[in-house]
Amino acid sequence: MPTIQTIAVIGAGTMGSGIAHLFARSGFNVLLCDVQQSFLDQSLTRIRTNLGREAAKGKLPSDQVEPSIARITLTTDRNTLASAQFAVEAASERFDIKSEIFRSLDTILPHGAILATNTSSISITKLAALTNRPAQVIGMHFFNPVPVMTLVEIIRGLQTDQATYDAVRDLSIELGKTPVEVNDSPGFVSNRVLMPLINEAAFTVMEGVATAEAVDQVFQLGMAHPMGPLTLADFIGLDVCVDILRVLHEGLGDPKYRPCPLLIRMVDAGWLGRKSGRGFYSY
Ligand code: NAD
Repeated sequence: MPTIQTIAVIGAGTMGSGIAHLFARSGFNVLLCDVQQSFLDQSLTRIRTNLGREAAKGKLPSDQVEPSIARITLTTDRNTLASAQFAVEAASERFDIKSEIFRSLDTILPHGAILATNTSSISITKLAALTNRPAQVIGMHFFNPVPVMTLVEIIRGLQTDQATYDAVRDLSIELGKTPVEVNDSPGFVSNRVLMPLINEAAFTVMEGVATAEAVDQVFQLGMAHPMGPLTLADFIGLDVCVDILRVLHEGLGDPKYRPCPLLIRMVDAGWLGRKSGRGFYSY
């Protein structure tokens, strides 16, 4: 396994920006790749703001902000990723997009480099099978906001080998995260358990059992959740929740995962949560 100094991050959206921030702050060189220069520029602005915020809070020495930013190289040319020893794919959650990326990263990155994906729900085993290095493909599932949340869910595909798992576990610890090992299955552990909670919370609102505020209060005050399930659903995006529930429903074949009709209607109305200004709450 080559020593990891340079990381390729594919996709510079919410998660890719956070992942690039985290690696750069931890001393790695980062090649951040997206399809448009404007997305990369927006991402770097966001990273600069967030690093500045960390420095202001005393979580990062202020003389480390600029050197961290200087370790990030922006690129729209995937061929420049050839100097990376490790890749984290954080592009849009679509199998066609990710499969094209995995096929091409497999031809561009050096032999032995690990290809990790931050997917929330797509099969690691399937993505691995598209490459000539299925043993070096793995899930590295970060949580939003990446620089803050300590969990990394590490997902072994059926073909992932032990050396790859060990390298990603060690890397996660080096980044200051706590890795938790799971096997490839729809929704892994995080979304397999969280989404049915959100879905059932939506059913209670749809059936008039309680208001959204009341459901959230039950979980905050009774179960010590820092935010209730419907506030969390608005934060994640109701469209994302419905997509993941569909993956669980199809992948596990159990009707208990069918998305709540209220969630589907809200998505149809464009009420996607925080990002659209309206979900279970108004923003
Ligand atoms: P996003 O929409 O904010 O960002 C996706 C980025 O990928 C966009 O900038 C887009 O331009 C880019 N992209 C699309 N096709 C590309 C290509 N071919 N090459 C390079 N870049 C490409 O999405 P996000 O919320 O950052 O999610 C990214 C991944 O992380 C998804 O797989 C998602 O399931 C997963 N994830 C998201 C969260 C979350 O809370 N948002 C949490 C954990 C995991």
